[in-house]
Amino acid sequence: MENYEDEYIANTYQRLPVHIKNGEEARLYDENGKEYIDMMGGYGVAIFGYSNDKIKKAVCDQMDILPIAHASEYTEARNNFVKKLADSVPAGIDKFYLGNTGAEAIEAAIKVVKKSSKKHKLVAMTNSYHGKTLGALSITYSNKYRKYFDDILIKDVQFIRYNNTDDLKLLEKDDDIAAVFFEPVQGEGGINIPDYDYVRELREITEKNNIIFVADEIQSGLGRTGKMWAHQHFDITPDIITIGKGIGGGIPMSVTAGRHEFMDNLEKGEQSSTTGGNPIACAAGTAVLEQLTLDLINDVAKKGEYFRSKLNESLNDVKIVKEVRGLGLMNAIELRVKFLPVLMDLINKGVLALYSGINIIRMLSPYVISYDDLSKASSIIGESINEYYKEVIK
Ligand SMILES: *Cc1c(COP(=O)(O)O)cnc(C)c1O
Repeated sequence: MENYEDEYIANTYQRLPVHIKNGEEARLYDENGKEYIDMMGGYGVAIFGYSNDKIKKAVCDQMDILPIAHASEYTEARNNFVKKLADSVPAGIDKFYLGNTGAEAIEAAIKVVKKSSKKHKLVAMTNSYHGKTLGALSITYSNKYRKYFDDILIKDVQFIRYNNTDDLKLLEKDDDIAAVFFEPVQGEGGINIPDYDYVRELREITEKNNIIFVADEIQSGLGRTGKMWAHQHFDITPDIITIGKGIGGGIPMSVTAGRHEFMDNLEKGEQSSTTGGNPIACAAGTAVLEQLTLDLINDVAKKGEYFRSKLNESLNDVKIVKEVRGLGLMNAIELRVKFLPVLMDLINKGVLALYSGINIIRMLSPYVISYDDLSKASSIIGESINEYYKEVIK
């Protein structure tokens, strides 16, 4: 096959040497039939893997019934989706803005905050990731993403240290903070899980000081961490939740979900998208939510525990491994050295993984992955890191 992608696609992605042809559950196949255990999950999108009959049927049926309807028109697919979504979010969260990408959900949340508060500042966390459009980039921490665009970003943003109780004092001292944007488990930042007491205190302080609490659940939501929403691990309820990645079953879709007293401050024309809430995405979204049963989510928690225990077994005593950590099927291995040689070796050995920064291997496998594949993947990862370790100490 001629490679037109490298010729024509803008240079913005770190490309991996894999040509995926097709997929089945949590496995991917290249043009030569080589099999990969998928620990990447299309960056967390493929929560039901690659051959989910219900999503496929919902999308195909909706194509037949009505593929296009603008958000100014009422339609059954959207009607069904928002009812299902209302049943899936915490009590009190009762208004939705439907968009297409995660970053867009964040943009809408920023606008809701701006219209809901007389205060000016947005607070975000160190190592945060909220997307790369200019608003979302303004609250994304990494200098690598920001450095050439700093002068066109939102000015009133302050970063505080994630999971640092001392920095919470800043929220009490400063009376000009409109909102805090918070990932209940940080994804791109390296699968960072905050302490229970820290998150409780953060939520209490925001409540007491009329600071809007936005939980970015784009990566951590929809059962990924072994609960429907990652914030539920900390027994808190946010004011606004952003949802993305897997919600459309592979069809681009995102949601800004919030308490109506905030969401209702956005008025006609102040936010819109031509394809936001389109019938195909809504039909797929309904099929996704219908399948996110408590049993399935409990299974995600169990599979995660199994996977981490297997990883710990196979990485026992490997001195370049700093930590194995995760919640549910949101997992990471932090190395003391660069991950890139390991990631490439894993591809050779038939495991696709993700990364964060330069030393963290990140894994967001489909929920439908089998215990057998989790075991296999952990042995392969163990083998690969062991081999790398031997090379490093040579
Ligand atoms: C992926 C992600 C985003 C951005 O979503 P896009 O669809 O890539 O715009 C925002 N926040 C978090 C936590 C994410 O993981």
